[in-house]
Amino acid sequence: MSNILIVGAGGVGRVVVHKCAQNSDVFKKITLASRTLFKCKLYQKEVKERYDTDIDIARVDADDIDELTKLIKKTKADLVLNIALPYQDLSIMQACLECGVNYLDTANYEHPDTAKFEYEQQWAFDERYKKKEILALLGSGFDPGVTNVFCAYAQKHFFDEIHTIDILDCNDGDHGYAFATNFNPEINLREVSSNGRYWQEGKWIETKPMEIKTVWDYPQIGKRDSYLLYHEEIESLVKHIKGIKRIRFFMTFSQSYLTHMKCLENVGMLGIKEVEHNGCKIVPIQFLKTLLPDPSTLGERTKGKTNIGIVAEGIKDGKKKKIYIYNVCDHQDSYKETLSQAVSYTTGVPAMIGAKLISEGVWFKKGVYNMEQFDPDPFMDELNRQGLPWFIKEL
Ligand code: NDP
Repeated sequence: MSNILIVGAGGVGRVVVHKCAQNSDVFKKITLASRTLFKCKLYQKEVKERYDTDIDIARVDADDIDELTKLIKKTKADLVLNIALPYQDLSIMQACLECGVNYLDTANYEHPDTAKFEYEQQWAFDERYKKKEILALLGSGFDPGVTNVFCAYAQKHFFDEIHTIDILDCNDGDHGYAFATNFNPEINLREVSSNGRYWQEGKWIETKPMEIKTVWDYPQIGKRDSYLLYHEEIESLVKHIKGIKRIRFFMTFSQSYLTHMKCLENVGMLGIKEVEHNGCKIVPIQFLKTLLPDPSTLGERTKGKTNIGIVAEGIKDGKKKKIYIYNVCDHQDSYKETLSQAVSYTTGVPAMIGAKLISEGVWFKKGVYNMEQFDPDPFMDELNRQGLPWFIKEL
């Protein structure tokens, strides 16, 4: 039995609320809070109509630690799910620490003024969380999240040593717009337009954006151009997967997406620093977000599938071995179930599963942990039960 506070009523927040309401035997009390109340009210109505579940809603600015601390105390939550933006990670972790409640998120900390995400400042909470006897579970989305669990599962059941991992993320959905992003545009475009980076033989190797391309044949989708990006799970996996020599992350992009992005970049629309406009100060990428379709409204019109997985290569009983673990998710199926497209669905379902395992005491350790530091088996079972079944292929 658990009393949870979900912070952030965006595209992913909607799926989290639906999935938690579906599991109301575990989540006895649910509060959804966001910077504005509009979507909280909408999602509150949806879960009442669909599952006859009552949830509380509240307005909160999660950048304000005092305001959030008061809300946590008022709701008496024992777990806070941070489904807001990476900018809020540190303030929400601090509020959880002050209240002595567990914390979970789906994306690692990023400062608004620097397009660089890293775990350092979140890992720095470890000692204080241990002393307070609470848990922070970092990155319980799909990637990071399920991809980390797939790696831990491969390590536990298939290998004595894993030498290389490629994480392969394909969104083959079509929303019919010339250009839109499937999760928060600001976070998405900052990530995609940054330099690539991968880890090899103990060193980080930096690449230019989209410099390295491979073509991967994604089951149920087909061959797609996939570009090397830096992605946050690499930072924790290099620490926790034994014997690892190389980890890379690839994501698919259509030529049209890349052309739009390059053009926006060339005219300065991806800029993250303030500029003066007609006497006002604006941040170009934030203005662009205002113009682009809200990802939480793409569900109904997005058709096609996502396929995200890992290919691991290494040694078992002295022999070489290579396996592929992946999930395929259909945008329209996700919409029917939760009124959201598959990118929000594949992030929100694992967030709920992480919260469920913490609430049931199946995953609990004092301190700050990444997903691969827990036993992957219960999480893999829940993926099959909660709408994200996975497949394993020997390659
Ligand atoms: P959205 O922009 O749709 O939603 C974010 C929500 O956070 C908004 O509704 C906003 O509230 C709320 N919010 C922002 N700032 C604050 C604040 N200061 N206080 C309270 N609430 C705030 O983003 P998504 O739903 O697409 O993404 C949510 C998170 O999921 C992001 O961190 C993203 O990086 C992560 N993600 C992780 C993935 C994974 O696989 N691990 C994949 C995709 C996304 P309001 O609307 O009320 O202003």
